[in-house]
Amino acid sequence: MRTAAITYHCNQRITAKDVLKRSWYVRVLGPSFMYLKFRCPQCRQEGEAFIEQGRWSEDLLREEALPLPRVG
Ligand SMILES: [Zn+2]
Repeated sequence: MRTAAITYHCNQRITAKDVLKRSWYVRVLGPSFMYLKFRCPQCRQEGEAFIEQGRWSEDLLREEALPLPRVG
């Protein structure tokens, strides 16, 4: 499974703590979209993103893209 991430134009990764608002944008025809409004932690500008329902996952907003390896 491919792991994706949401990045802003400055390439800063957007995680859950940066999200100001989220809601489903439901269309009668075609796929629904997850709408995210966020503030970039690097340049402090607000941005928006629409992610198609089929591509949306809470994992997109995780701090760590990959789980930490277990040691011992
Ligand atoms: Zn930025």
